[in-house]
Amino acid sequence: MAKKSIKVQATASVANVSCGFDCIGYAISEPSDLLTIEKQNKPGVEITISGSKTDSIPTKSEKNTAGKAILSLLNALKCDQGFKVHIEKGIPPGSGLGSSAASAAAAVIGVNELLDNPFELDDLLIHGMAGEAVASGGFHADNIAPALFGGMILILSYDPLDILQLSVPEKLISTTVLPEFTINTLEARNMLPERVPLTSAVEQASNLAGFTLGLHKCDFDLMGRSMVDLFAEPVRAELIPGYYAVQKAAMNSGAIGCGIS
Ligand code: ADP
Repeated sequence: MAKKSIKVQATASVANVSCGFDCIGYAISEPSDLLTIEKQNKPGVEITISGSKTDSIPTKSEKNTAGKAILSLLNALKCDQGFKVHIEKGIPPGSGLGSSAASAAAAVIGVNELLDNPFELDDLLIHGMAGEAVASGGFHADNIAPALFGGMILILSYDPLDILQLSVPEKLISTTVLPEFTINTLEARNMLPERVPLTSAVEQASNLAGFTLGLHKCDFDLMGRSMVDLFAEPVRAELIPGYYAVQKAAMNSGAIGCGIS
């Protein structure tokens, strides 16, 4: 018999990865959001949230990434089943760790399961992205794809949607530093340059090629040499007090690279 309720956990994710600005993201093991999803007898999606720093998160289903993702999925199925969703928010919103994406990922996984899996995992991505769009103002997959599939993901193309799992060396370790302040993704996006010089574009492309080759060959030195971001880091660093000091400290301590998620 079909389940009536389910708990789904989705972890935070790092997007951008220096030279992989806007096209590479990876899942990290913590923090995470925990969603409890229940079928209800009336149509619609009702959302409640608990956890710290949740005051600013909308609970209206159309405005919440989990709610919007579920509505998108239900709409595709022409299904009027209603759901109650409780989000235990473990990932602070506006932390740059895919808080909004994790809720959307857990939501589509949970509802799909409660509906007896009408969609394959791959087909859930588009609905997760529709949810994530309410937070980021556009269709982005670099947090939602890692939250759904795990590992490190390359978004090769959006039209058609083409998402690739990158191989990750077993010994590669990622450490995340989460400062006590929030940055709105939309604002951080609006400050990006609309155009970049061709020379920077070529350099970024070379670095991205070097980075993925480094991953493939488990060549940490090559990965490190390639971890340079000419697009976002130069403008976003100023949003983070002490960013370059932290980067220097990380590099002096043996990190192969350090960037802004
Ligand atoms: P992050 O990079 O940490 O996900 P974002 O700035 O992308 O941060 O997302 C936070 C924004 O998304 C906030 O404006 C928040 O109100 C909105 N939001 C909507 N639904 C959710 C949700 N379920 N979880 C977190 N943030 C949400």
